[in-house]
Amino acid sequence: MGQLDGRVAIITGGARGQGAAEARLFAAEGATVYLTDVLTDEGAAVAAEVGGTFLEHDVTDVDQWKVVVEAALADHGRIDVLVNNAGILHWATMTETALDVWNRVVAINQTGVFLGMQAVAPAMKAQGSGSIVNISSVAAYSGASPCFAYGATKWAVRGMTKGAAQELGPFGVRVNSVHPGIIDTPMMAGTPLEQMSGNVPLRRHAEADEVAKLVLWLASDESAYATGAEFVLDGGMTA
Ligand code: NAP
Repeated sequence: MGQLDGRVAIITGGARGQGAAEARLFAAEGATVYLTDVLTDEGAAVAAEVGGTFLEHDVTDVDQWKVVVEAALADHGRIDVLVNNAGILHWATMTETALDVWNRVVAINQTGVFLGMQAVAPAMKAQGSGSIVNISSVAAYSGASPCFAYGATKWAVRGMTKGAAQELGPFGVRVNSVHPGIIDTPMMAGTPLEQMSGNVPLRRHAEADEVAKLVLWLASDESAYATGAEFVLDGGMTA
């Protein structure tokens, strides 16, 4: 018996990295997975591998969110899990960040999470259950000056998670944030992970499937009393 048997899950940014790892693990645990991304070939390949459905979807587009939600509801009549995972990283300090870059990072990492929560909330409220997992970062615990816009959006996700949890809790809908440290995914390509991990208490970075296991726990009933909470997975980086 799988931890997500009979559950319908939407995972954004599911074409690669952590989103793909979550799609694989969720499917293995019995979920029906809708994975969405702007990367169509990679997304379709992961969906075919896990027996899920791929939908081309830019998380900044409110109309595309409607299409994704309506697809899941038309097929299954319910949405049990939303993982707001899609995100981009841009390395630039505050003084170096151009306005168009700032707007793009905010649109994907922050507004995309807002739109996702807003899109699934009516169905989850109506069914009286649901788990929304927002992927933030350890960047939500510091100034993150080398990636200023990214850090700002991850702080925002941490805060938005709590506001949404307060609003949706009375309807049986849980909202939590996950704060990964250094994870070996395409987002970190070209970044010296070994060097970055040198001062991490556990002295290593993590793999995407390690994050997926935590997200699975939050998606499942195993975490039934957790909402509005922050779950840090960083090898002790923020200790
Ligand atoms: P990843 O490998 O880059 O995967 C992210 C996916 O999201 C990519 O396929 C990306 O496509 C997609 N995406 C970007 N913009 C999108 C949009 N507008 N709409 C839909 N999909 C979009 O990165 P990852 O490391 O797995 O990151 C997953 C999440 O974890 C992100 O929120 C990230 O900020 C967070 N995180 C990562 C780390 C880390 O060390 N890797 C640490 C802390 C937090 P593109 O190729 O177009 O960008």
